[in-house]
Amino acid sequence: MHLPLGGALVTPMSAGELAGKVRAAGQALGFVRVGFAAIDPLELGAERLDAWLAKGHHASMDYLLGPRHDPRRLLSEAKTLIAVALAYPATHSLVPLRASLDGPPLTGVVARYARGEDYHDVMRKKLRRLADAVANLLGRPVLARHCVDTAPLLERAAAERAGLGFAAKSAMTIIPGVGSYVMLGELLVDADLTADSPMAPRCGSCRLCLDACPTGAIVDDHVIDARRCISYLTIELQGPIPRDLRPLIGARVFGCDVCQDVCPFNASAESKPSAPELAERASLAAPDLISLLELGSARYRALVKGTALRRTHRAQLARNAAVALGNSHDARAVVPLVRALAAHTSGLVRGHAAWALAEIGEAARALALAPLTCARDHDAEPFVREEAALALERLTQADRRR
Ligand code: SF4
Ligand code: SF4
Repeated sequence: MHLPLGGALVTPMSAGELAGKVRAAGQALGFVRVGFAAIDPLELGAERLDAWLAKGHHASMDYLLGPRHDPRRLLSEAKTLIAVALAYPATHSLVPLRASLDGPPLTGVVARYARGEDYHDVMRKKLRRLADAVANLLGRPVLARHCVDTAPLLERAAAERAGLGFAAKSAMTIIPGVGSYVMLGELLVDADLTADSPMAPRCGSCRLCLDACPTGAIVDDHVIDARRCISYLTIELQGPIPRDLRPLIGARVFGCDVCQDVCPFNASAESKPSAPELAERASLAAPDLISLLELGSARYRALVKGTALRRTHRAQLARNAAVALGNSHDARAVVPLVRALAAHTSGLVRGHAAWALAEIGEAARALALAPLTCARDHDAEPFVREEAALALERLTQADRRR
């Protein structure tokens, strides 16, 4: 329940006038767009989701299986869905497919949205203030529920119905004039506000994102197969990354921006974030891969505190760093990878370190053969023994071909 500030007399307003004032209040809070939609079930979005789930494109994300199409399940008294967008920095730095081949440091790439403070926290605070603004404008208590990503709601479908942007072939929501480097949020309120009109798709014949995706994860217009998507593989996937996809991940250690970086709608996007908290942190702009591989518990906690990286465990980040170091093909990665193979407490990391040593190839052979043989014959985990055996095979086959 959001209460109005006491004292002020409020003149009754039409739903249209109220919508205009709430939009202005949202923009004053830093939202780059604010739109309004009727609270009805999001049938079209539900159909798309069902078809996607039926094909298994959600991989292991079973939390997506429950109902997400009816906003009233979240607040039965809701009358309007307010959709908002926050912008995160969209600087167009070149994202390397491989880590630097020469000169220190060997760095990884974190998706742009995750380089600042966790946007969930920023969004929640701003949505609460927007709900307060609605209560003040109405001069009465307002029932409201804010939703950010984790709530069971089809937020892209909601944003599109509220006219924020259109459904793009990359499965992102694109806001003309702003682009897609935005986070979406929703506020359900028990007040009538005039709805905006949905926006027709504008991708036209463009297919840049489909062609640029490093792993071929955009399997059709608007359809991402999470099983191939680097965002899923580096963030959600708890176990081993499929071997055939590891070389395609490049230096990315948390998420991927390729399908957005190539989009013409982002070419003129402003780089100014909606809130100072969303600005890049130096520690996440280009994290050192060897430090990530060797991250201890205390340093892990310090690195991820207050950021979206909290979603990944320490071993997942180290696994991702091992893959990126393998993809660097850089001799400086050999000693840290040998150390990880021999002594990391996580079998997931030891196994990926074995793969990375083989990926580095010639430069790794002299130092890696003995620890790989030891891991193949003695490691406690079958996954590590298998990876070590495969790595030895690759290194010795390459040796024979010389
Ligand atoms: S995030 Fe990366 S891997 Fe996933 S669909 Fe986009 S370009 Fe492909
Ligand atoms: S790259 Fe082209 S097809 Fe992909 S989302 Fe952007 S405009 Fe649409």
